[in-house]
Amino acid sequence: MINLRNVVFDYPLQGGTFRALNGVNLRIERGDFVAIIGASGSGKTTLMNIIGLMATPTSGDMEIDGVSAGTLDADALAAARNQKLGFIFQHFNLLPRLTVLENVLLPAQYIEDGKAVAKTSFKKPSSAHWEERALTLLKTFGLEGQEDKTPALLSGGQKQRVAICRALLLDPDVLLADEPTGALDSANTSRVLDLLEAMNREGRTIIVITHDVQVASRAKRVVKIHDGQIREDTRKTETASQKASEKAQNPPLLWEETEPKHSASAIKSSCQGTVGSVLASWFPLTAVRQAFSNLGVNPVRSLLTVFGLSIGMSAIIIMLTLTSEARQAFQRFFDTKGGKSAWISADWRESERLGKGYWRGLHRDVEAPLLNRYFSRYGRIDPMTEVSDCQFRSRFRTASGEAKGIEDLGQFSESEMKLAKGRYFSPSEVMESPVSKVVVLGKAAADSLFPSLSEEAVANPRYPVGETVTIRGGCSLNLTLTVVGVLQEQDTVFDNAINAALWVPTRTLRAGGLSPYTRSVMAIPHPGVSPTWFAENVKTFLRASTGDRFPFRAFVPEQQISRVNLMLTVLGGLTIVVGGICTVIGGIGVMNIMLVNIAERIREIGIRKAVGAKGFRIRNQFLVESTVLCLVAGVLGVAAGVLVSNLAMAAAAHAMPRYVNAGVSWNSAAVAIALVSSVVAGFGFGLLPARRAAAMDVVEALRQE
Ligand code: ADP
Ligand code: MG
Repeated sequence: MINLRNVVFDYPLQGGTFRALNGVNLRIERGDFVAIIGASGSGKTTLMNIIGLMATPTSGDMEIDGVSAGTLDADALAAARNQKLGFIFQHFNLLPRLTVLENVLLPAQYIEDGKAVAKTSFKKPSSAHWEERALTLLKTFGLEGQEDKTPALLSGGQKQRVAICRALLLDPDVLLADEPTGALDSANTSRVLDLLEAMNREGRTIIVITHDVQVASRAKRVVKIHDGQIREDTRKTETASQKASEKAQNPPLLWEETEPKHSASAIKSSCQGTVGSVLASWFPLTAVRQAFSNLGVNPVRSLLTVFGLSIGMSAIIIMLTLTSEARQAFQRFFDTKGGKSAWISADWRESERLGKGYWRGLHRDVEAPLLNRYFSRYGRIDPMTEVSDCQFRSRFRTASGEAKGIEDLGQFSESEMKLAKGRYFSPSEVMESPVSKVVVLGKAAADSLFPSLSEEAVANPRYPVGETVTIRGGCSLNLTLTVVGVLQEQDTVFDNAINAALWVPTRTLRAGGLSPYTRSVMAIPHPGVSPTWFAENVKTFLRASTGDRFPFRAFVPEQQISRVNLMLTVLGGLTIVVGGICTVIGGIGVMNIMLVNIAERIREIGIRKAVGAKGFRIRNQFLVESTVLCLVAGVLGVAAGVLVSNLAMAAAAHAMPRYVNAGVSWNSAAVAIALVSSVVAGFGFGLLPARRAAAMDVVEALRQE
């Protein structure tokens, strides 16, 4: 079954090689129990590495079940170790962070449908099946009740029994033990030897490496090795094997606590029958869980590592959330200011500079309707009525400000003017003759014209509604009006005198001496017509109508919005770049910590490979770990980012309640970007360390302390 022909093995050394095996010829038949003995340094472990398919001969040939090891690649060797061999090490080589049960189950993680070297009947049984088998093995070996402990809590003898359970899990043909009793006291030594003998009686091939005579005396065959060569090969005499068969007739229980029905052979037969489901489902779940527990071993280090990445992620979240909220706030702001309209007026400064005098204006009753008819397909053009520098008088005070005409009741709601007291105009006051002498006051105008002087005023909540205001002097108007309402304070972004103004029906202003000409109009395009395009055309038309004599200017809020949007887009783009840089820096940190992590766990990698993990499984394990690490960073960063941006939004909503929405919000695109980029970073920056781990040599890795 195992056949070594003229095997030579050289260890590379600085400036040459060291020949550890020098022409070994050894043939081991199925069912044999072989002890390989020799002094320390004679090459025993090297020989075991070769028999155990963990190293391949420098020259010569090692054959197992008729297949030459030299023809197998690393993955095929791993599969063969997984399915044919069980290892028992001197220092147990249990994984300290896994429980006893998880340690025993380790080889089952790496089962695959084997190719060249697979047993033909081999199927993947379910994970529940393996768990049952592992528990049965633990029970058989007197480890019942220990399955959830970590190995550190067990005695040496118990640890070695756990290791034997692990070696037996996949029911291998060959058990390879390197100094299995080297770390045990004599009582435990003889128990472990009893176990090995029992395994041999069941038909398993046992190869034990030892320098202990007590161990060698239990074997059927003893091979002595010296300086890398076999010096003696003796088979036990009849008496010795008779002794063994006597024992077999009166078989000792494997362990004191063992129940006979759970003997290893019973397990063997019960294991064979199960047709398996897919074990692949183990991989991501187990790996993710193990990744979390590994990161939890050193939480401070893990947290520090992810800190940079988290900051990058939260910066992305904060900036993208705030820029998109700012965009909406600006849009809302411009909408309340007539975001889809434009103002066109004579540019009197420019006229003055050019010495052209003043444009008479557009006649409200004659030219404005003509202009509207001309542009009727594209929108509406309202003459604006604003008479500046008027003197207002109440019975108490004098003030100055602008009188604004109201032509249509919709104007109040369109520009979001809200009442503090009294009422708006009634339709008849705006539309019908005879003219009504009514006025609505801006907040500042009301405060300065009607200070709360008298007790009567303080007591009357409607004051100054019902009072009288006279407009006379400073402008062409001459009117006496009754106050019907007072407006709430308005914001002064576009017009800092707006609160000092008062509103009067345009017809009333006309009756009070308003010029029939206006020098500014408001252009309101129909839906779907660009305000910029419409304003430009109206401007050109007006200019042409003056024979190109006077300049005009247009104010189009839409252009402001697109300017702000462009700025915010640039800002968002810069944020992504900065977030990307943070991600790279954080990712390099993760790469660094993964390399440290791997360096600390070389032995674990060796153990996993010894029980049959192929390179890609090791690579995936560390990739999952770095991805989990980065995803944790991403989640922390997203949480911090959402928190900070919501605090900022709450502050902004407090300062500007009309334009900023209060309430918890997040930008789901930004959250998605942050989470996806942290996964990508974990994968990208984990790849190099993970591949390094995957490429590690089994023997080298197992040698690490
Ligand atoms: P044993 O298990 O019998 O004590 P080993 O098989 O471990 O012996 O080692 C055989 C010889 O090979 C020893 O002389 C040892 O120093 C040498 N050797 C083992 N591993 C290496 C290595 N990685 N590089 C160089 N020499 C090694
Ligand atoms: Mg050794």
